Amino acid sequence: MAELLVFAPHPDDAELGMGGTIAKLTAKGVEVAVVDMTNGEPTPYGSPEIRAAETARATEALGLPAGRRVRLDLVNRQVAHDLASRHKIAAVIRRFRPRWLFAPVLPDAHPDHVAATRIIEDARFDAKLTQTDIPGEPCYPERILYYYCSHIRLHGQPRFVVDVSEVYERKMKALDAYQSQFYVNRGDERGAVPESIRNRDRYFGDRVGVAYAEPFTCHELIGLSDLSSLI
Ligand SMILES: [Zn+2]
Repeated sequence: MAELLVFAPHPDDAELGMGGTIAKLTAKGVEVAVVDMTNGEPTPYGSPEIRAAETARATEALGLPAGRRVRLDLVNRQVAHDLASRHKIAAVIRRFRPRWLFAPVLPDAHPDHVAATRIIEDARFDAKLTQTDIPGEPCYPERILYYYCSHIRLHGQPRFVVDVSEVYERKMKALDAYQSQFYVNRGDERGAVPESIRNRDRYFGDRVGVAYAEPFTCHELIGLSDLSSLI
């Protein structure tokens, strides 16, 4: 079971897009789970073993219990929006029975990200069906929220941002865990990708008067029970 379920096409997408939000909510006792849909490999300087070890370090940095991160067996660079994949994701939704889902925002240039989000959107619907061979009991999460891990660095107008200032260095520590992706891979010891994400989160933080904030969007109307959490 998990209250919030974050789907990531590759191990590192959840950290890039909403690592601060995951760390902050987990620290508050909210049950967050992350589902990596592929193992993320091959990449130029990674391997399945290296990537798994990096993911374990990142998971620890976010304070996420190991049991709340799972990896599925969709194939990196070959993620396809098909019925089998939809049902696989629907089974995971039924297993965790979350209130909300998180998916990568579209548009994106990475075909895996595009396919992943389409799969997640349809799997949310599939998960509620009866008289199907999808394992588990029917479940219909209330919302899909979209986080930003886009390869085209477009952010449109997010519907809201989450202040992650107090946990920001933990997000950076999680990103630093992915040495094969952001440091060795780029031949850049400064880590251009983490620095770009820091700049983005600083920009959105500045828009609401805090140090760092992560952007989100949603196609459905967002309701507030009161105004106490607005900043
Ligand atoms: Zn990705």
